[in-house]
Order: sequence, then structure tokens, then C-alpha cells
Amino acid sequence: MADRVYLDHAATTDVLEPVMQAVLEQMRIGGNPSSLHGAGRRARATVEAAREQVARAVGCDSAEVIFTSGGTEADNLAVKGLFYQRNGADSRRTRVLLSTIEHHAVSEAAEWLEAHDGAELEWIEVDASGMIDPAEVRALIEKAPESVALVTAMWANNEMGAIQPIAAIAEIAAEYGIPMHTDAVQAFGAIPVNFRDSGVATMAISGHKIGGPMGIGALIATRTTALSPVLHGGGQERSVRSGTIDAASIAGFGAAAAWAAEHLETESRRIATLRNRLINRVREEYPAATLRGPEPETDLEIMKHGPTRRLPNNAHFTFAGCEGDSLLFLLDMAGIETSTGSACNAGVPRPSHVLLAMGVPEETARGAQRFTLGHSTTDADIEALLNALPAAYAQASSAGLAAHTPEASRWH
Ligand code: PLP
Repeated sequence: MADRVYLDHAATTDVLEPVMQAVLEQMRIGGNPSSLHGAGRRARATVEAAREQVARAVGCDSAEVIFTSGGTEADNLAVKGLFYQRNGADSRRTRVLLSTIEHHAVSEAAEWLEAHDGAELEWIEVDASGMIDPAEVRALIEKAPESVALVTAMWANNEMGAIQPIAAIAEIAAEYGIPMHTDAVQAFGAIPVNFRDSGVATMAISGHKIGGPMGIGALIATRTTALSPVLHGGGQERSVRSGTIDAASIAGFGAAAAWAAEHLETESRRIATLRNRLINRVREEYPAATLRGPEPETDLEIMKHGPTRRLPNNAHFTFAGCEGDSLLFLLDMAGIETSTGSACNAGVPRPSHVLLAMGVPEETARGAQRFTLGHSTTDADIEALLNALPAAYAQASSAGLAAHTPEASRWH
């Protein structure tokens, strides 16, 4: 790993040292937090201390933190749990309003409800920079407010970094008494996220995006939000999330949340400034590269207000005439780890649904390359990418889009 350059922190980021210590310490202590004896009580104390750390970092009460196995489970619990509850209480509530740029953890959960439970999905469009207009959410609700089960919109997008007007959308939903969920997996730890001030009913967060362990996350849910459980069993975590509580991972998640809260301001400014240098250089040197997502704040704006439009760690480009995968593999061979931004489906690269929703043509969307920075990113990492990019770009663009043309696929 040592001489490789990792620029895929939105996929997962390095585990922080205090996190490893917290995990190890609890593993040594052991015990099941639900047991009544001393070992159980000690494990429970670890869990409750970590719950408090997470609550402080996201601006909620500790009773509002429901630990899950990660962001995916938190999103599933929110979308399905809210739908079953609201539709069960009033069968007219069948509409689920969701943005066209949601992570699959939200959109696939909603599509499951459409296929199996009578949900009707209505998609909230985004503009060319990937932003939601709250007025559009109002218009969708007002068609028939009594039929809306829930609204869901992500706080910040994992591919192109757009930060959404979550409080404005939640306020509109609240006017009609409709619960709103937000996926804050990418926002938490990168920009200020305050659950209480946002006005949402539920919010998903994840440990491994902020320097915590994988396989741990939380759904933050107000006390008055009723959720139907998705996992059934022993009734741990407010009776909505059964399963033996993973005290060691939770201890690590708590430590990561505390670290993120303490370093948020300095880190988001440091990272955004590095990111701006990367964006400016790519824009200058590659006329074929187009930055996707909102225009980043200038260094001065970042110093004054912090990032407000775009996640500080995100630089996402499409390179015209290049296959994003080719660029990724060529950069990887040069020791630079990046992403195309969207997962391939069963090994088949697909243009990103997020870029398509922003009106990017399919062929252009195939040239996507996402660079995401994190707490371990240095000046030297950005320099290494900028040094490796010319050769990788030249080779990827000479290969062009040939591999995926209909002509080519007919013969292979
Ligand atoms: N939501 C968003 C926006 C994400 O970026 C991710 C992870 O890629 C998830 C949800 C899923 O989180 P987890 O990996 O903890 O299941």
C-alpha cells in the first residue's frame, strides 16, 4: 500500500488509529451488551458511550441513534420501515417521492416496495448540476398530499458531490405531516450535519466513510417516528433492529464520529483546497474533461464559509472520448486508485444513473472518473495523480470507446 496513491475515499477511507484502539479494547473486554452480568454491563457501557459520541457528532439525542450494520441497512430500515408503518396506518398512502440520484440502497429499497407492496414511486428530478429544487418536491406533494407515504432525498451525492437543500425539503414535507428520510452517508464527517436542525424524521450514516470500521452504521430517528422493523428477532435497538449488538465496531464508530466532529472544520477546508488545485489543473490541462456536479466554492469562499454546494473531497469529471474503466485501470497500473463513480452491475460497466439523471448523454457518461480525497490525502498524492494522468489519458483516449460500440459487441 505504501507507495500507492488512494483517491477513492468516497468508497471507503482509511481506518483511524484511535478507532483501531477502541475496537481492540472492546474486543479484549468482550461480553454481550444485552447480558445482565458484569461482562454484559461493561459491553453495554461501551455501546452507550459510543452512542453518545455519535449523537453529539450528528446533533441528536442518544436515544435517537439506532445502530445498524451500515448505511445500506439504515436506508432500508428507513424506506421500508416508514412505508410499512404509514401505509399500514392509512392504505391511501402509497406514494414514495425520491430523487433520481439516490444511492441504490435507497432506490432499490423503494423499487422493492413498488414490486411487492403496492408503492408508487415518483421521482424528484435534478438539474444539470445535480441539484434538487424544493419547489418541485412541493409540487409533487401537492398533487395529493394524503397519498404520500414518505419523501427521501440524499444529503450529498456520492458520485458528483452535490449538497442538497435538505432542511428546505424537510420543511415542506413537515407542512403536510409527511416524514422525510435523508441518506447522509457521504455528508456526515465531510460537512456540518445537524439532525435536529435539518427537520428530517430519519437519517442514515455509515462508519467506514468516516474512518470507522466497515459493517457498522446508524439510522437516526426522532422518538416520535414510527418504523416497522425490517429485521426480526431479539428486539435490540428500540425493537426495530434485532441482532446482537456489535460492541467493538460500535466503539470504533463512536471514536470515528468524535474524531470527525473535532476535525471537521480544519479537515474540510484543507481537503477542499487540495481538491480545488486538482480541479483547476485538470480543467486547464484537459479540454476534453468536464467537471460534473455543482461548481466548487473558491478557496476564499471555503475559508470563509466552508463548502456549501459541493462535498469538499469530491472531484468528478467526464473525459470525452475515453472509457472511464480504461482510465481507471491505466491509473491503477500507475499506482493511483480512483473510481468511475458508479458500481458496475455484475461486472458489466453501465453509465451512471446519476449522470444520466443530470442530462449527460450516455456516451459522455461512460467517460466518468471520480477522484475523492480523505483524511490521509496529501499534496504529494494530488501531484502524483497529476503526473500520472497525461500518459493514462493519452492511452485511454487512443483506445477510445471502441470496446463497447454495438459493432464490437456483435463480434465478441
Ligand atoms: N449511501 C451512500 C450515499 C453511499 O455512498 C453508500 C456507500 O457507498 C451507502 C449508502 C451504503 O453504505 P454502506 O457501505 O455502509 O452500506
